[in-house]
Amino acid sequence: MQRKVNVVGAGNAGLMAAKTIARYGIDVTIYDQKQKPGYPIRASGIVSANGLSRLGVNCSKALTNSLSGARIHAGNSVLEVKAKAPVAKVLDRGILNEICMDEAASEGVSIITGRKLSASELMAISKNDIIIGADGAVSEVATTFRMGAVKRYVLTYRVEYNTEPQDTESVDIYLDNSISPGLFSWVCPNGKDVLEVGVGVSSLHGNSKRAFDRFISHYGITEIISGAKIISEGASIIPIGLRQKIADDKNHVLLAGDAAGQTKASTGGGIVFGSQGGIMAGEAVADHMIHGSRLSSYESRFRRKNRMDLAMHSMISRAYRSLSEREMGMVIRMLNKAGAGRILGDYGDMDRPTEIIKRFILRRKIVA
Ligand SMILES: Cc1cc2nc3c(=O)[nH]c(=O)nc-3n(C[C@H](O)[C@H](O)[C@H](O)COP(=O)(O)OP(=O)(O)OC[C@H]3O[C@@H](n4cnc5c(N)ncnc54)[C@H](O)[C@@H]3O)c2cc1C
Repeated sequence: MQRKVNVVGAGNAGLMAAKTIARYGIDVTIYDQKQKPGYPIRASGIVSANGLSRLGVNCSKALTNSLSGARIHAGNSVLEVKAKAPVAKVLDRGILNEICMDEAASEGVSIITGRKLSASELMAISKNDIIIGADGAVSEVATTFRMGAVKRYVLTYRVEYNTEPQDTESVDIYLDNSISPGLFSWVCPNGKDVLEVGVGVSSLHGNSKRAFDRFISHYGITEIISGAKIISEGASIIPIGLRQKIADDKNHVLLAGDAAGQTKASTGGGIVFGSQGGIMAGEAVADHMIHGSRLSSYESRFRRKNRMDLAMHSMISRAYRSLSEREMGMVIRMLNKAGAGRILGDYGDMDRPTEIIKRFILRRKIVA
């Protein structure tokens, strides 16, 4: 009897995994505890234009803004990155999820919403069938099958205001370990009349709402948002660093997306990275069902493909987490002197720092 494939969690990672499997003509069912997966919206939707094109999802209906620049603030200094054309897209996360659900359904995926799978159900399913755990940062699948821990967690608080951003083309990032240790704070124009403000702090340093209040008062954001209507607000969590184990041959379990810790350590971004993880998990399951290959080939392939970029994101994150505000200001001034703003603007693919370095080296060789 052919094994069934069950995906737990209809976020972007689970939907990409299920869609990939269905394309091989294999029956796959995806479960989500929410009646309407993707809502309420708890996360931002900034993705690199390159990364988005790699996913092959038509996101035009979810697009709320295009960004061509970023200002990175640290200790009274600012690094301005400006590209000639938009390099990042801002997506409405709810609509993005709806698009991914429609695409999965049209490939033949069975989608069951409003259904939470418990630990005992997961254990029972794994006796005969395959499970892909794409059930987010606090993954029941990972806990049930003892897949180890992710490296660390970042707690977030974000608010969307109905107000006209002063600059609709650039996002502002604030590196300040006295306010947002572990990540950063941000102000992003989500559209022509929507401004998003958010903070991320290491879970070791506690309360993200308190950090948010300190951020908006310290950096004068309170005046910018004064009187503006709140569209959405809330706290959430981002896992950082790959989980110890993301595939288990014995129990036929794979993890993808936040459940696997597939986010970039430097920014916490997981839409592109986690979706790619979902696609790779889906391919490994199809390969297993069709050719009998080991499910754990997914883990080795994922680690091999992303080794360099994962290491670079960790290095960048470690650097800004360990520096004081004054030291970070010095680094920004040095980067400004070296013309980093222009180089990042020309070559910046925020998902693949190794590509930026390759292109930078190539450019130096050509100039030399
Ligand atoms: C504030 C914030 C800002 C962010 N900004 C960005 C950004 O700008 N760009 C970017 O790329 N990334 C960003 N991220 C990260 C990004 O949101 C995540 O990496 C991504 O959403 C992970 O997708 P996922 O499919 O793995 O998990 P999720 O989207 O969390 O989906 C998991 C699904 O599993 C379901 N589920 C959970 N348990 C069960 C169960 N037992 N049974 C059934 N269903 C279950 C849940 O209901 C949920 O729908 C941000 C995150 C946060 C918190």
